[in-house]
Amino acid sequence: MSRNPECVFCKIVSVEIPASVVYEDQTLLCFLDFNPLSPGHLLIVTRDHYATLTELPSDVSSKLGSLLPLAGKALIEVTGASGFNVLCNNGSVAGQIVPHVHFHLIPRFDADGLGYRWSAGSYEEGKANQLAAEYQKAFTKPS
Ligand code: AMP
Ligand code: ZN
Repeated sequence: MSRNPECVFCKIVSVEIPASVVYEDQTLLCFLDFNPLSPGHLLIVTRDHYATLTELPSDVSSKLGSLLPLAGKALIEVTGASGFNVLCNNGSVAGQIVPHVHFHLIPRFDADGLGYRWSAGSYEEGKANQLAAEYQKAFTKPS
């Protein structure tokens, strides 16, 4: 197991500090965010310390992906939410405060006041094609 002694989520994984754990297995831990955006806000973290999503080995990311639907169903059953957001902040510029990879599952209710800022832009002529070509190349690069 790789742990970072400074990391708050590693401390939760190693039970050095308490958390309201709702699910655990050999790879993952799921617990309540202690400052919820809405009641029942969950965090899913890896047991091992990885800073961001791009560092995850594929077996770990597969397990994370598989847990999302199960966690979502449990969230709806327990909170009675009408829906939920899944959020994974990667890097401080993206709002990541705890540098240990985690997914937020945020229960959503009618008129919950949380809102959603999505300031969509548009592409100049040719830019989308250029970006798509660069992406296609990046996706096929061996890791
Ligand atoms: P992020 O901005 O994506 O890094 O979010 C980190 C989240 O971790 C925040 O929503 C915090 O409320 C939550 N958090 C930090 N420390 C703890 C803790 N000890 N127990 C539960 N949640 C925590
Ligand atoms: Zn950690």
